Amino acid sequence: MSRNRQQNVTAAQWTPSVDGDTPNATDLTRTDSLQYGSNVFGLDAQRARLPKDVFKKMQATVSKGEALDPALADIVASAMKDWALEKGATHYTHWFQPLTNITAEKHDSFFNPISDSSSIAEFSGKELVKGEPDASSFPNGGLRSTFEARGYTAWDPTSPAFVLSNPNGTYLCIPTGFVSWTGDALDSKIPLLRSMEALSTSAIKALHELFDDTSASHVFTTVGPEQEYFLVDEQYYYERPDLYLTGRTLFGAKPPKGQELDEHYFGSIPERVLAYMMESEDELRKLGVPVKTRHNEVAPGQFELAPMFENSNVGSDHQQLTMMMLQKIARKYGLVCLLHEKPFAGVNGSGKHNNWAMGTDTGSNLLKPGDEPAENVQFLFFCTAVVQAVNKHQAVLRASAASAGQDHRLGANEAPPAIISIFLGRELEKAYEKLETGAIDEDAISGLLHLGTPVLPGLPLDGGDRNRTSPFAFTGNRFEFRALGSSMSLGFTNTVLNTMTAQAIDDLTYKVEQKIEGGTDKAIAVLEVVKDSWIANKVIVFDGDGYSEGWHKEAAERGLHNLPTTVDALPWYVEKQTIELFEQYGVLNERELESRFEVAVEQYSSKINIEAETAASMARTMLLPAALRHLDIIDEAEIETLMDEAKPLVEEFVAKIRALEEANENHPSEEGYELAKYMRDTVFAAMNDVREIADKLERIVADDLWPVPKYSEMLFIR
Ligand code: ADP
Ligand code: MG
Repeated sequence: MSRNRQQNVTAAQWTPSVDGDTPNATDLTRTDSLQYGSNVFGLDAQRARLPKDVFKKMQATVSKGEALDPALADIVASAMKDWALEKGATHYTHWFQPLTNITAEKHDSFFNPISDSSSIAEFSGKELVKGEPDASSFPNGGLRSTFEARGYTAWDPTSPAFVLSNPNGTYLCIPTGFVSWTGDALDSKIPLLRSMEALSTSAIKALHELFDDTSASHVFTTVGPEQEYFLVDEQYYYERPDLYLTGRTLFGAKPPKGQELDEHYFGSIPERVLAYMMESEDELRKLGVPVKTRHNEVAPGQFELAPMFENSNVGSDHQQLTMMMLQKIARKYGLVCLLHEKPFAGVNGSGKHNNWAMGTDTGSNLLKPGDEPAENVQFLFFCTAVVQAVNKHQAVLRASAASAGQDHRLGANEAPPAIISIFLGRELEKAYEKLETGAIDEDAISGLLHLGTPVLPGLPLDGGDRNRTSPFAFTGNRFEFRALGSSMSLGFTNTVLNTMTAQAIDDLTYKVEQKIEGGTDKAIAVLEVVKDSWIANKVIVFDGDGYSEGWHKEAAERGLHNLPTTVDALPWYVEKQTIELFEQYGVLNERELESRFEVAVEQYSSKINIEAETAASMARTMLLPAALRHLDIIDEAEIETLMDEAKPLVEEFVAKIRALEEANENHPSEEGYELAKYMRDTVFAAMNDVREIADKLERIVADDLWPVPKYSEMLFIR
């Protein structure tokens, strides 16, 4: 039976809201300040409900990273519970981030029966601080054998609790870390927190000792992620097993119209989509996520949302909430939000630009050039530390963005290349060049970043000349790591960024101290060290076209790593220098890194396996029968040329399907890395062969016989 193609779901058919809580004209008087953070047990709620001294201690924990006295947990728990009950919550959950890129929850009721007809709401400090989910089924890469399957969740007081609602109820979510009973991290939050601490210690030492800034007592790393995503009609989604099983289309011929007209980028947003965005943003604002920017992206059906930056830990929790809300709310509008890195071949994939910087608790951004020469010496010091860190640890930084979905993006000419390099911009590069060639003296300091060229006030290094092809770009007051995938957690990448920068800061600080001990003036010593580091690491700096063939050759000559696939990149999780780095800073020990490597490898293989089995089954049971029916039509029409064209293609299709099925059945007996290599070299390749023929068939088989929606139907969302 051919697919009974239903009418396209159009804007007229979506219902704006199931429960009427979508903002409408009568809500126009509401102000965002009323809504913002209203579902968060944040600063205001804490101030209003906690005894003053407890509130102060919570604040010290949040703003200075000070440890919280466990004795206070009961008081906080009780206030948090009362607040949540008023919000309608009946349950609470420790909300954590296992190594799956998404979050996990296990709900417990606040209510305990006290008689056969009444119950009382209880929530103790102990329940707030520690949970013990039955966690044996989360990926742990061998860190927990099943007989010791205990894993604990531990409250993170630095990320505020919040309530999530469902049409039938509300529950309190408490951000937590997730550890094994031996204390090994099983999640993406704990290493991130450890790395933030490491960076703070190193940066504070440098600030105090080299730059006489003793007002700051803590340095936070910050993150502002730009999230790209696709929207498709829910109806099409369910008509395509590849979409609902793997998150991407495994088949689909390029439509007559793709993204070549560039008409979608920054175009006006379709009404249904805008309504969806507005509701998502409303919900996110209530959760304290400072959403700010929305627009159409390059590909048809592709959009972007970006928040204001926050400290890395809260920002990455908020990023998880963003992904969750974007997916959840889409359903109310008859849409499905695809976070996969490459849902459609032939149009751009989706990434997540990771804007990253470091700032003091006194409010100054260490990556922002200042107005005063002395401030610029300090800026250059921290900027140089980043350059040195990225050069030294380019491979693990690349590995932190590796996944099956990412292999379609990185290295293709739409996303940053798989080769890590840094774009600094002309002004900043000139400053380094001047330092490299000129004498380092008082004049050099006062001339720093002024360069004798009149620059626009307030805009000395801003991104007029941004290079969009660079994977790691300086954009005026932050670095933008552009290689992260749209479905990925921010955790590991930012853990890598923070830890490697901490190491570089320490290295530079040590060298400056040596020079000062030898009698060199402080500022001069800093510049000399900066100059040496620049000379040693400038190979990583590149301002040309990162997509070009020429760059691939040049990068090889420079000795930069080119790790085109996940399988090439992942071993860097456990390279000697990576282990040394993370162990030195107590961020991840060798066991933890090994486990993360194993999990990532296994996830890669599982994903390719699911795709390959889905592809084989769709090809054999949906697409091939359509092609055979089409042959019947041709046969009946007795037009030989058509038969000559179609039949060999169908025969080839059968052969390729068989080859894929064989590849699926004959996995090597080894697991782990060997299996991943087989998946890439044999299975993935066989799957692409099947697709190639299927996409040709799609172009000739009668449209009413083709059993799945086509790109031309799916991509142009209204
Ligand atoms: P573009 O698309 O030009 O890169 P956007 O405005 O879409 O710019 O995104 C910029 C992102 O960078 C925002 O999320 C913003 O909050 C973030 N950002 C700005 N300053 C910092 C900073 N100091 N640290 C981290 N992120 C920052
Ligand atoms: Mg950007």
